Amino acid sequence: MSTNYSPTQAMPKAFVSVRRQRQKIYPNQQIFLDNGKEYEFELFNPTTDTILVKISIGGHEIPAARLVLEPSRRVFLDRYLDSSRKFKFFTYMVDGDNDQVKHAIMNNGKVSVSFYKVANTTTCPYSYPYERWGLFGIRVYSSDSFECTAFHSVNYHILPLSKKPVKVDEIRCYCPQCGRKFRDKENFCPKCGTKRRVV
Ligand SMILES: [Zn+2]
Repeated sequence: MSTNYSPTQAMPKAFVSVRRQRQKIYPNQQIFLDNGKEYEFELFNPTTDTILVKISIGGHEIPAARLVLEPSRRVFLDRYLDSSRKFKFFTYMVDGDNDQVKHAIMNNGKVSVSFYKVANTTTCPYSYPYERWGLFGIRVYSSDSFECTAFHSVNYHILPLSKKPVKVDEIRCYCPQCGRKFRDKENFCPKCGTKRRVV
């Protein structure tokens, strides 16, 4: 970790957004999206340095999602830089519930954004084809090299909406059997007779 940054200095920011709306972050950095939803990374560099940003999805770094952010630059990155393919959240069903399967899907939905400073010595040179970057108006630092170790990173775990924690009020207001909304004084569902759950 770098010592050039004092604890009070603003760190680079990364958010998951949908149509430029930042998505709510739940405990454990969880974010809930519809299956098939396209999303973006909102990236902001409040530091006084030019930084390299690397994005990992599902535990794999995406070479086509590396970019260089100048100071005070904010970017919404919605696609892989080498194609027109957009970032899209997919869930898939898996057979079985054993440890092997759990391990296989463990990183599904995990996204990580890491930030690197320009290196003073040439240790980890990265060069980029120019055309990948012109589209976004981001300057190319093909001769710059960046440190090998990230000085900051932001992690999220994207989960399907079906996994979103339901508020107690929402459970109480709807019949667990047929889904009908309870009126204030109803203790039994008038449609199916199910007892209102007391929480
Ligand atoms: Zn009911």
